[in-house]
Amino acid sequence: MRLVVDLNRCQGYAQCAFLAPNVFTLHGEEALLYDAAPAESEHARVWQATAACPVRAIVTDEGPFIESTAPTGPR
Ligand code: SF4
Repeated sequence: MRLVVDLNRCQGYAQCAFLAPNVFTLHGEEALLYDAAPAESEHARVWQATAACPVRAIVTDEGPFIESTAPTGPR
């Protein structure tokens, strides 16, 4: 899995750091650090964090939330 956090969207709500503390860490009020290639044992937590992020800032290349985070456009 690869993951990216859109730091322009991220508002530092910390839901991700609460749900997947081995992958997301908040430093101070706004600096979010994250593991861009989390271990398989962390994937379920990452998906929970993806769903919980209030601004949908977390994007992964696999998992149950691909459709909701994929760019939309004409078909
Ligand atoms: S839950 Fe979303 S907004 Fe909050 S710190 Fe994580 S990525 Fe940022």
